[in-house]
Amino acid sequence: MSWDFSTEPEFEAKLDWARRFVRDEIYPLEVLDLDHATFRTIAAPLQQQVKDHGLWAAHLGPDLGGQGYGQLRLGLLHEILGTSELAPYVFGCQAPDSGNAELLAIAGTEQQRERWMHPLLRGEVLSAFSMTEQGTGSDPRQFTTSAYLDGDHWVLNGTKWFVGNASRADFHIVMAVTEPDAPPHHRMSMLIVPTDVPGIETREIGLMNDPEHKNPVWSHCEVTYSDVRVPAENLLGHRGEAFALAQQRLGPGRIHHCMRWIGVCRRAFDMLCERAVSIDVHGSLLSEKQTVQNWVADCAAAIESARLLTLHTAWKIDQVGAKEARTEIAMIKYHGAAVLHDVIDKAIQVHGSLGFSTDMPLEQMYRWARAARIYDGPDEVHRVTVARRVLRGYQPAKVPTEHIPTRRAEALERFRDHLELALAAQ
Ligand SMILES: Cc1cc2nc3c(=O)[nH]c(=O)nc-3n(C[C@H](O)[C@H](O)[C@H](O)COP(=O)(O)OP(=O)(O)OC[C@H]3O[C@@H](n4cnc5c(N)ncnc54)[C@H](O)[C@@H]3O)c2cc1C
Repeated sequence: MSWDFSTEPEFEAKLDWARRFVRDEIYPLEVLDLDHATFRTIAAPLQQQVKDHGLWAAHLGPDLGGQGYGQLRLGLLHEILGTSELAPYVFGCQAPDSGNAELLAIAGTEQQRERWMHPLLRGEVLSAFSMTEQGTGSDPRQFTTSAYLDGDHWVLNGTKWFVGNASRADFHIVMAVTEPDAPPHHRMSMLIVPTDVPGIETREIGLMNDPEHKNPVWSHCEVTYSDVRVPAENLLGHRGEAFALAQQRLGPGRIHHCMRWIGVCRRAFDMLCERAVSIDVHGSLLSEKQTVQNWVADCAAAIESARLLTLHTAWKIDQVGAKEARTEIAMIKYHGAAVLHDVIDKAIQVHGSLGFSTDMPLEQMYRWARAARIYDGPDEVHRVTVARRVLRGYQPAKVPTEHIPTRRAEALERFRDHLELALAAQ
């Protein structure tokens, strides 16, 4: 096994370009309070530039219109894209579209890829991933949205919750119970549901970071499906396979979230440090106060540790696949979310009232960061996963393996001859 922390010069050049492009072309859009339609119009020529530089839809293989960079290089790119919430859209890799395109690539038929995936990759349509049901998001075995076959159509009924971009999407990928009598993890299937069919009702939900749902890239919705009919061929993958497919979709997606959080952390950290060397109070700069120095040092170490853990996880996915990297994926999800929160929190504190005001982006970053501990599975569930998998490597022991009196008795027995000789020689 080799360890190498360098990036190939050709890819580093692409990252340099992305860094400049995001800072010079995308950051200015953040402060214009754009609505969704205006943002899409302004973003279109920027998206073309991204395509010209070979960084469009970087999450898929070349055979599917993407770049085939692998998770590690994608991680490095997402670190840059994370610095602005508008950037993933401009680079054609925003959730939920990126994960949905991956799902269609993994499980879609030729016709499904042609009809849904390719337009998604070209940025012509938007999609939503409709899975969560209120109060049971952490335990998908309890979902009740269901579908049955009626002739050559599926008939879908149920209510989903917090579906990202449902009100703007051209199609939803919906998880529904189609095999009620199967074991819990094999009861659901995935259906592709175009949003122009009758029976779909969406209600946009106000969020902590977007109470009036004005965000230019995101909406989050409650969606009710009432006798929605879709052709039988809109089944994605096999019947009863939704749970396994969702795991495949969410694993790499979590890595991308985590790398974007590192980008957010760095931007907040830059603000923290700039302010620390700029403000003079009680006779010295903030950067000369030991408490602030502790924050700088602790945040720098926390960001670096989260970054390395994320990149290592990405590397492991590239080596052995997302399934084998489940422990690492779960670990970085809650660890990264905590680091994200703490770094922004310290940056706000260093700015005092300015940090709490809307004159700085920190308060908005802070409110959005709170969601990181919930979406794609709450912290507690990921901790359970990690603890269970870690504990599998241990056996119960009546007497602790490291119990010193027991070890001493064994060692005395084993080295008795040497000890007796040594004693005799004294
Ligand atoms: C910003 C955002 C975007 C989202 N986007 C989408 C989307 O596009 N599509 C979609 O389908 N869903 C989406 N979701 C929903 C998300 O996946 C769920 O919120 C998440 O899975 C948790 O489910 P829940 O909210 O129903 O929480 P619940 O299942 O109601 O859990 C509530 C709380 O119970 C605790 N808990 C749960 N299980 C355990 C346990 N085993 N041990 C200890 N404590 C536990 C946790 O503290 C948890 O926060 C999004 C959510 C957010 C916040």
